[in-house]
Amino acid sequence: MLAQVIVDIVHENVAHTFTYRIPEGMTLFVGQRVEVPFGPRKKEGVVVGFADTCDVPEEKLRDIIAPLEDYPAILPCLLELARQMAEEAHCPLAETLRLMLPAEMRGGRVQVKRQPMARLAIPPDKVDEAAAAQGRSAKRRKILELLRDGEAHPVAALKLLVRDPMEALHQLERMGLITLTQAEVLRRPGGDAAEAVAADPALTASQQEALEVILPELAKGRGKFLLHGVTGSGKTEVFIRLVRETLRMGKSAMILVPEIALTPQMVSWFRSRFGAVAAVIHSRLSAGERFDEWRRIRRGDARVVIGARSAVFAPCERLGLIVVDEEHETTYLSDRHPRYDARQVAAWRCENEGAALILASATPSILSFAMARRGDYTLLEMPHRVHNRPMPQVEIVDMRQELENGNRSVFSAVLHSHLRACMQRGEQAMLLMNRRGYNSFISCRSCGHVMKCPNCDVSMTYHMTDGDGRLHCHYCGHAESSPDKCPECGSRYIRYFGAGTQKVEEELKRLFPGVGIVRMDVDTTSGKDGHQKLLDEFRSGRARILVGTQMIAKGLDFPRVTLVGVVAADMTLNLPDYRSRERTFQLLTQVAGRAGRGEIPGQVVIQTYKPDDPVILASAAQDYRTFFHQEFDRRRKGLYPPFTIMARLLAEASDAKRAQETAQALHQRCVKLLEEHPRWKKRTLLMLLEQAPVGMLRGKARWHIQLKLLVHPETEPFVAALTDMAREEHPGADVYFEYNPTTMM
Ligand code: ADP
Ligand code: ZN
Ligand code: ZN
Repeated sequence: MLAQVIVDIVHENVAHTFTYRIPEGMTLFVGQRVEVPFGPRKKEGVVVGFADTCDVPEEKLRDIIAPLEDYPAILPCLLELARQMAEEAHCPLAETLRLMLPAEMRGGRVQVKRQPMARLAIPPDKVDEAAAAQGRSAKRRKILELLRDGEAHPVAALKLLVRDPMEALHQLERMGLITLTQAEVLRRPGGDAAEAVAADPALTASQQEALEVILPELAKGRGKFLLHGVTGSGKTEVFIRLVRETLRMGKSAMILVPEIALTPQMVSWFRSRFGAVAAVIHSRLSAGERFDEWRRIRRGDARVVIGARSAVFAPCERLGLIVVDEEHETTYLSDRHPRYDARQVAAWRCENEGAALILASATPSILSFAMARRGDYTLLEMPHRVHNRPMPQVEIVDMRQELENGNRSVFSAVLHSHLRACMQRGEQAMLLMNRRGYNSFISCRSCGHVMKCPNCDVSMTYHMTDGDGRLHCHYCGHAESSPDKCPECGSRYIRYFGAGTQKVEEELKRLFPGVGIVRMDVDTTSGKDGHQKLLDEFRSGRARILVGTQMIAKGLDFPRVTLVGVVAADMTLNLPDYRSRERTFQLLTQVAGRAGRGEIPGQVVIQTYKPDDPVILASAAQDYRTFFHQEFDRRRKGLYPPFTIMARLLAEASDAKRAQETAQALHQRCVKLLEEHPRWKKRTLLMLLEQAPVGMLRGKARWHIQLKLLVHPETEPFVAALTDMAREEHPGADVYFEYNPTTMM
């Protein structure tokens, strides 16, 4: 018998399967990981099939060394998925197979954790006799006493009751009175928190309606839905009911959330309703925790999986449901190789494995909503908040007017007075400031010079943390002291523009001394539980104001928040990206939706320099449809996605000339390809060689060939050719092919 093995090496020439002989007496399954000889070394691989014969001459065949686990680590459905993704992304199967395993499993870097257990080896009614025979050893008597119930006890627990029990335990074992064993323990992220089972609330009418449409399809193992529910409409309760039904059918369910910051909340909701069957997967787990959660799912012990993007590859055996919450979030797109869109992967899994797919959002992505209108998804709407709680009242404040009135603070008069009133009433407030640090950038009033990072073509941000106040680059981490004279013209009229989260926090401390304030941005949320600690501080009420970047805008549910302030709404609107309008709408609508989720109605203040902008107006009205029609029209006329594909070949090199030359050479090849294939050329609307908008990043010069292609079957072979081109060796440069990337900077 022969086994076909994908060896875990990513190299262009190793993209196929290798055949090995299965030694006498070894049984293997498809999907099982094995150790194989590869050249002079040993490598890990995955069995993908079996054969009786092959072209390799008998004497050249080598034996499989050993299986790495006694079970197939990769389920057949995930092997199939890896194949599909490899084909789609034009990359070797070895590369997509890696996605299906916790990274730590490769190379045997994590081990099953075991702990010693003690158990009685004699019948309980013989304990008294055995204890009496222990003579003067009170320790041994005590241990026998403790083990009388016949259960296995962790030695660690015995240590709490008997001082230094090890010697006594070994003696008892030698006497044949007890047995010592090693039992597997699973590391549980977040611990085995008390799992009170909360009661079900009565469903609202729109929750009921949504369920009536979805449940019959779920039962048939199919259906694709876009659940568009305004903020606070109670989408989570719909998920909970669907998950419960899925479990009842004996299947497993998966809930994807965009951000780690949202995971603890979702987890606590699900733990309170489903107890221990919920597993959590995200990037901040320790290696051991991730591996153990993975095994709980693989063994079928955990049948509800909650996690960020990569959880879509969880080894659920009988998948019945995937929910993608906040489906519009860009975090569902992986930017590392091999690139994938978790929503697309979820759709494939559902199709292959007979599961229902729910995409949910208060602000669906233009793409998903367009697909729903076309009939690819069944559109379900939840237009009202739970218990007819009103949508928050939104006020737009014109910051130009504030300046004219002589107000130079980051807070308008309106926001300031609302904040004061909110604090006096003993309620909570959230403030969105979509830039971390203190000031956004520093520029010279005389000559306009902006302080930029020497390694990156981006402006630096002023931070106060070091005491002296320094400029930081948010891309590469470079820091330097801030100048008091313009390095360009020597003028002393250097000005600090725009505020960051730190500045807002400081202003708040000055205005509301004694009020607890929590700041949440990349700088304050490092570490495994970084988010959780800050959010707990706010949830408990110890802190009354939460200031943060977009990470506070999404999905969080704080019933005592009655005021939301957007300190600078234009910040994202002005980015040179065709999606900046969509992003701004989503951000403002989502953050406004954090207000008034409890009993008390909410207020929202949006501060802007563009009070008449249609995007600002639509988000203030929480009017998704108006926004969608505007934006869809603009995309159609401007030939932006979903009508076209935006892509680029990006060349990066430490040597600026090398980057440029590499891009130039690639551009010439592209021109030639299009000449050879007139049908590809017809679908290519733009092919532009230029320096990337961020011309330098982390010390590397960047050039790109920007492409705009019509969505059409004829563009697919061109995309494949571009992908292959990027994968070649490029001396002195790195080349990436990016397909509808999250940014083109
Ligand atoms: P969404 O995700 O749609 O913004 P959530 O699922 O966070 O909304 O629900 C908003 C709030 O309403 C939560 O506090 C939730 O516990 C509550 N809620 C949801 N459904 C019901 C219901 N049927 N009865 C009472 N409260 C509900
Ligand atoms: Zn100057
Ligand atoms: Zn930098």
